[in-house]
Amino acid sequence: MAVKKGKKEKKKKVEKKIHTKYEKKGDKLERKNPFCPKCGAGYFMAAHHNRKTCGKCHYTEFIKKEK
Ligand SMILES: [Zn+2]
Repeated sequence: MAVKKGKKEKKKKVEKKIHTKYEKKGDKLERKNPFCPKCGAGYFMAAHHNRKTCGKCHYTEFIKKEK
């Protein structure tokens, strides 16, 4: 009875998925999330359903829904 021992999965290196912060719109790339105005370029703000929050300084910006 050959029972294969489960191979331990090697942990993959977690790369910074900065490319996920960009979205291709037509022929130009558009940032999904803006940079934090307090922390500056490089610090993306996390998008929530009604607000954007900086993970560093927790600056929050509310998103106005456009009709
Ligand atoms: Zn910030």
